[in-house]
Amino acid sequence: MLIPCLACESRFGPDEYFNACSDYNRGMDLVSWTCPRCGNRDDLRVLPGELGFGYPHRGRFDVHDRLRVPGLRRQRGDLRLDISLDRACWRVATRLRQPA
Ligand SMILES: [Zn+2]
Repeated sequence: MLIPCLACESRFGPDEYFNACSDYNRGMDLVSWTCPRCGNRDDLRVLPGELGFGYPHRGRFDVHDRLRVPGLRRQRGDLRLDISLDRACWRVATRLRQPA
């Protein structure tokens, strides 16, 4: 299964795609994704069996587009999100922010 970049339409295998995730935002339940090809940055939500793309709206994130990724699983941790697919696993850490 190949997962496309929504900006440049390059397609990536799961390993390349999920290694490009960074900074899990637990409050919004989002990960940042930077396309290794075109550098486009997107926020996405990892859901069981699919990826959700959308826009922040009034402090929430509304999913508008869903991309099915059969077998995709997720587990939320305190400061990270674990993503797994088949026997592979990727860990996306939360970037610590300085308290305001
Ligand atoms: Zn791209």
